[in-house]
Amino acid sequence: MEEPFKRKTISFYKYHYLGNPQEFRDSIYRDWFALNCFGRIYVAREGINAQMSVPAHHFDDFLKTLGKYEILKGIPIKYAIEDDGKSFYKLTIKVRPKLVADGLDDGNYDVTNVGKHLTGLEFHNFVGQKNTVVVDMRNYYESEVGHFEGAICPEADTFREELEIATDLLQDKKDKKILLYCTGGIRCEKASAYLKNQGFKDVNQLHGGVLEYARQIKTANLDSKFIGKNFVFDERLGESVSGQIISRCHQCGKPCDTHTNCANEGCHILFIQCPECAEKHEGCCTPECQEEKNGKTSGKKPKAKKFGNSRKYRKSLALIRSEQNLKNTKYQIPKLK
Ligand SMILES: [Zn+2]
Ligand SMILES: [Zn+2]
Repeated sequence: MEEPFKRKTISFYKYHYLGNPQEFRDSIYRDWFALNCFGRIYVAREGINAQMSVPAHHFDDFLKTLGKYEILKGIPIKYAIEDDGKSFYKLTIKVRPKLVADGLDDGNYDVTNVGKHLTGLEFHNFVGQKNTVVVDMRNYYESEVGHFEGAICPEADTFREELEIATDLLQDKKDKKILLYCTGGIRCEKASAYLKNQGFKDVNQLHGGVLEYARQIKTANLDSKFIGKNFVFDERLGESVSGQIISRCHQCGKPCDTHTNCANEGCHILFIQCPECAEKHEGCCTPECQEEKNGKTSGKKPKAKKFGNSRKYRKSLALIRSEQNLKNTKYQIPKLK
């Protein structure tokens, strides 16, 4: 926070076979650590997926390091639209079996037979047209705060679940033009290949994801068809795309799209909380967590929860236990066109 220089928040990914992911990981770690880069990066035999914050004065040197590796040469980089540079506070590079935990057996279908890539502007023109179906391939906690107009947003907690629910919901739409999107495009690489294998004929995906879409419509000075906030996986937890708020505080129901992690370290669940509720509940998700945070209970710690389980969690939150409760709330979300 006290750094006297600026940072750039960027992201990139590529499916590209790596013979020795561990060796590659160690090498880029040395390069990027030396340049004081921060970020969360996954490396797998199938490629790389990176979200990073790079010191502005080292940016050219950082770009030079990309040229050293076959996989990173000419890789398309996406730049954050709302960027204060405070996106990451350390450099983490992990080797994983897969880039995105999809739970799929890649041997069962052709992962290279992906959907057609659409630019942000092409995607923009298709959204809302006859015979098209827009599908949000992200988790519910992401689409809850922002999504494309008229998109199908499955109530999924994981990408694997997302694929299952989306395939079910689309069963009678195999002949329609399917328009898939996600945050930066990587999930749609898998999802589009999967849907094509399931018999969908016209599968398209937003190249570069909402991140790239937001940049392109801004440049072209168009009204966004993505309403609300684009959830991002760094300390910022979101970039506003359309300036509208489409979600509610999980505790009082007031329009709000600020995600926060429960202040009880043993819980740390991700949820939406307005500033008033944050003050009232001391940043906690439930009275139980608030008590525990203040050391009033000596009982066993609740199991550490992460991003993935917000739907189940939502159902357990006392104030939104029933949908009825939300309907009766005095707060109204403005109607969208
Ligand atoms: Zn609230
Ligand atoms: Zn909690």
